[in-house]
Amino acid sequence: MNPRMSDTGKLVVISGPSGAGKSTVISRVMNSDPNVTFSISATTRSPRQGETDGVEYIFMDKLRFEKMIAGGEFLEYAKYVNNYYGTPAAPVRESIAAGKDVVFDIEVQGAMQIKNRCPNAILVFIVPSSFAELERRLRARGTDSEEVINQRIQTARTEYLMVPNYDYIVINDDPDQAAYEIKSIITAEKCRFSDRKKYLTEVCQL
Ligand code: 5GP
Repeated sequence: MNPRMSDTGKLVVISGPSGAGKSTVISRVMNSDPNVTFSISATTRSPRQGETDGVEYIFMDKLRFEKMIAGGEFLEYAKYVNNYYGTPAAPVRESIAAGKDVVFDIEVQGAMQIKNRCPNAILVFIVPSSFAELERRLRARGTDSEEVINQRIQTARTEYLMVPNYDYIVINDDPDQAAYEIKSIITAEKCRFSDRKKYLTEVCQL
């Protein structure tokens, strides 16, 4: 028996302030590991330039989102800067059943809901090197109004209060290094005693 055969897919929740560079880091993790799949969230916010429905998000109106809430179709959902964001549960179940690791890009309220429902989920908080850098990145993106940028910065300050609930902190001053750290976290989590003890009993017969 291959000792790694018993590895099961991991749920990896990535949070961090808007502008921390989460999507860049996540795509680098996915490009380097075909076993990692991304949980595509639903949102009521409008698509930004360059975003495609079904790729970055499933874009929908408030009515459809609220119907999905009522139908219990979300693993978690939250309101963030006046819009709904949520994780459809069905694709996550399918990925886990196929042995895939699932990466989520979600804010702190949703991350706590996942931790409550799935205690084995790994929670990673990504931070930029400083608040000044965060502000610079949000402005450089050029996609949000001044009001929304200020709301996002304010939200980031409150989000930082939740960091003690996370398992890992990754500092994104270099996306390749940050992606490497996340891959290392996933690898290390798969080597945990609780995951590997089956190997001791079945293969080593200890
Ligand atoms: P943005 O509008 O910049 O794409 O995302 C805003 C925030 O919503 C980010 O912090 C992102 O992590 C979070 N987010 C994206 N998808 C979800 C989701 O499905 N659930 C929750 N709770 N937050 C999400």
